[in-house]
Amino acid sequence: MHEEVKEALLNGVAKLFRRPPKTSVTEWCEANLQLGTIQTDTPGQYSTRLTPYVRDVLEDFKNPSIESETLCFGAQTAKTMTMMAGLAWSLVNKPQPAMWVMPNKDLAGSFSETRLQPLFMDCEPLMELKHHDRHKWKRMSMEFIGSVFALIGSNSPANLASRPVGILIMDETDKFAESSDKEANALELAEMRTKTFSSPKILKTSTPSTPEGAIWRNFLEGTMHRYFLPCPECDGEIVLSLNPSKSAMPKLGCEAALKWDQKARGPNGWDYDKVEKSAHYECPHCKGKIWDRSKTKMLRNGVWRQTNPYADPRQVSRHLPSSYAPWRKSSWGRLAVEFLKSMESLEGLKGFINGTLAEPDMAQFEGGDNGRKEAVITELTPLVKTYRILTADKQIDHLWWIVREFIPGGHSRLVAWGKCDTEDDLETIRAEHQVNPDLTCVDSGYEATTVYQECARFGWFAIRGDDAESWVTHDKENKKSFELPYRVRIFDPYIGTKNQGKKKIAELRWSNPSIKDILHRLRNSDTSPVRWEILENLATDEYWRHLDGEFKDKVFNPRTGKIKHMWVKRSRHWPNHLLDCECMALAVAMKVGILKTKEIK
Ligand SMILES: [Zn+2]
Repeated sequence: MHEEVKEALLNGVAKLFRRPPKTSVTEWCEANLQLGTIQTDTPGQYSTRLTPYVRDVLEDFKNPSIESETLCFGAQTAKTMTMMAGLAWSLVNKPQPAMWVMPNKDLAGSFSETRLQPLFMDCEPLMELKHHDRHKWKRMSMEFIGSVFALIGSNSPANLASRPVGILIMDETDKFAESSDKEANALELAEMRTKTFSSPKILKTSTPSTPEGAIWRNFLEGTMHRYFLPCPECDGEIVLSLNPSKSAMPKLGCEAALKWDQKARGPNGWDYDKVEKSAHYECPHCKGKIWDRSKTKMLRNGVWRQTNPYADPRQVSRHLPSSYAPWRKSSWGRLAVEFLKSMESLEGLKGFINGTLAEPDMAQFEGGDNGRKEAVITELTPLVKTYRILTADKQIDHLWWIVREFIPGGHSRLVAWGKCDTEDDLETIRAEHQVNPDLTCVDSGYEATTVYQECARFGWFAIRGDDAESWVTHDKENKKSFELPYRVRIFDPYIGTKNQGKKKIAELRWSNPSIKDILHRLRNSDTSPVRWEILENLATDEYWRHLDGEFKDKVFNPRTGKIKHMWVKRSRHWPNHLLDCECMALAVAMKVGILKTKEIK
């Protein structure tokens, strides 16, 4: 062996047995990494000064108790750079086989050439460990003393499954190749590679795509860390949103909204210059205006906080939209302009929602303030013959309820909605709004026994949603069978108790898919066959949030192998109780004959 090579090798071996340094990962990266002109607009020593939110992510590379790290980050937030820096630290300080997966091989190759290898080659401690055989330093695989590093495209399943790794980095996971029938998908295949290691680390980064995409699912399953910033005016903690009432993010109550001069809209559309200059965040606590120039200081004093208390602490997940990025192209003014421009584009908001807000596309901006199709009325004109229906959705310790008034033929209007604590409160509300007990019902999908007994006590009936499309009903008189989106059963709620035989109640089953389609149709006042109205003062953001809590999506049924369009919740945390109440009211109106099914079908 050549003397120089031998010495270098021995040197490297000695370094292997060095204890991990006491310095933090961030300190090590800032001391040992250089960025060239290809990497950044500001070449020179690597620094986290402008992006302090990446520091905790870097430290997680050192923390053996963290198994997985999911970064659901927007564009321009330095997520890939942070993975590169953490990887360089790992290869030097905690050597073990590592793998970097990108959507495809070409992307991985050019990423290696233009970004990763230049970073590695300028990193002295890593180059000391570099294998001197030049055949072991290739574009897609590099050997170091103590570790082998490979880059792979998600579209090469054979490579994905080929070797065990201790560190697995998956970049842009939501663009990974779809699996064919027989193979596990790329993510699963890659994750299997870490099984033989005692403390492997799996890191995923991506801008999200759909709610079913890997990054969003992993984010929701993890700790859901969010980056909290101090308001420069009142020092209260805030998180940056765009329009909190339309966000797919679970609500924290401290979301700052992005605002701009509404007068910047002229007859020919928005004056983007004015929008950009006037854009600012509004503090949810003090209503103060927060300007882009405060961003750097706010970021420096920001802190990551876990917002999912139920998560396994080993599964860290973080969310960061592009509004946190410190660069000029991510200024709040530019974001506001980008939002308005995408809103007016043919392609719509999907790219903005995924790439900039770092949220899955759940049509959250569809039917916005200007685009609402529902009929909102300013006052209740008195009508001769009306039927009021009260429906309630039972939760653990409260009930959501609505009162909707119908006239025969189906024209209806929402006259009240709210939330109350007990069934006794609901009975008071029923009396106040002069609803007949016969037209009052509570959802029995939750705590059925209690609901049945409360219904018997107050003379109401029970109601429950069902996944069936319809039920066949026989009309004995006319000797006909037909299908209806509801059905009724009468039963004894006290069966098996000492009160058995004293009272009977009814339970109305309604078809989730059919009634939701009907409600959707009625909500569009341009095309609805009957008027379905909301009194103006009831049409609040909260009401619309519930009403928009579900959207129709393609769902794959593995049993039938078919894709079905179904109403699904926008997210686990997005409330939809008033939507259910509105559906129940329609089912009741149909059952009692006020709303004629034939007029809708
Ligand atoms: Zn404030």
